[in-house]
Amino acid sequence: MKTFLTDQFGNAASTNHPYGWSADQAVKDAREQVAHLISCKPKEVIFTSGATESINLALLGSLKQLPPQKGHLITSNVEHSATLKVAEAAEKLGYQVTRLPANQYGQVSPEQVLEALRPETVVVSLIYANNEIGSINPITQVADVLKDKKVLFHVDASQAVGKIEINLQTIPIHLMSFSAHKIYGPKGIGALYVRSKNPRVRLKPLTFGSDQEMGLHPGTSNVPGIVALGKACELIKGQIENENSKLAAMRDHLWSELQSQIPTAQLNGHPTERLSNNLNFSMPDALPNVFWSSLDGLAVSSGSACATGSTKASHVLTSIGLDSQLSRSTVRIGVGRFNTQEEISTAIDILVRAYKKSSKI
Ligand code: PLP
Repeated sequence: MKTFLTDQFGNAASTNHPYGWSADQAVKDAREQVAHLISCKPKEVIFTSGATESINLALLGSLKQLPPQKGHLITSNVEHSATLKVAEAAEKLGYQVTRLPANQYGQVSPEQVLEALRPETVVVSLIYANNEIGSINPITQVADVLKDKKVLFHVDASQAVGKIEINLQTIPIHLMSFSAHKIYGPKGIGALYVRSKNPRVRLKPLTFGSDQEMGLHPGTSNVPGIVALGKACELIKGQIENENSKLAAMRDHLWSELQSQIPTAQLNGHPTERLSNNLNFSMPDALPNVFWSSLDGLAVSSGSACATGSTKASHVLTSIGLDSQLSRSTVRIGVGRFNTQEEISTAIDILVRAYKKSSKI
């Protein structure tokens, strides 16, 4: 990435000189690296500024094939705000939206999706793995039930890429969004997978200017970002199982220690069908303000925005049945590739100390 920010500063669309050629080649190589990770064709990878843009493009780009009164979107109530806000925008344009209620673990079922289908349904959009509580949706099963329905299936795989093996040759997903920074790439770069065959998916562009990325993301390509996303995909390819087992071991140790020292702690999300790196729990007897101000710089977050001063509870926690008080004493922890056992021990000490200080008992 550094090379493409400094020495090789060419524009990938400049076809008349070597600087442009090498930038163009680097973008081609990155497209292959991304495609290789998710088992699709390089031409099915559209580089975007990240999952938010990809989700906008996937959902509005498919709905806008039809006049508003004729288009219906199905999604769920535990999606990332990117999807929820796009659904609201679609509604304002006159499209119909169904938000499926998730179960107590934050998952939706293929049966719920089937029941919600209408003749006007254009696209179904579900999160693969929840960014707050880590629960994994039955994406393969949903894709299977939608296979013969003439409905597009978009998956927000921002948290799943690099954590779950995804083979787009075998799962009939039509559109898939993700971001580089969830797999140790830089922020502000991501991709949208757009199926090219069986069926060939066509999207209406949402921005206009030039022809980059099949006209779906016009403007000068972010070559350093694209190169970095490609490299991040290359680094995780073939390593997913290995990395998951290391992350899960650290996460499980963290949880078992916390459970023994915070007996009231309750796990949120599915106990087994969850991301290897995610831990989310609530402490019913903790005073949130005291807890959150006692973390000594430990980089964990609440399930809601309350830690940053807002009192609004997270829509995901509300959807799985937590009241606002419990949401405020909920902790979301993401264990990462570069964490050490020592850091996990330090985190346990800090969290337990903060809990004891904040506990009403
Ligand atoms: N979807 C999910 C599940 C996410 O976790 C995120 C990032 O937080 C996004 C979408 C949006 O990604 P970005 O901010 O890179 O556009």
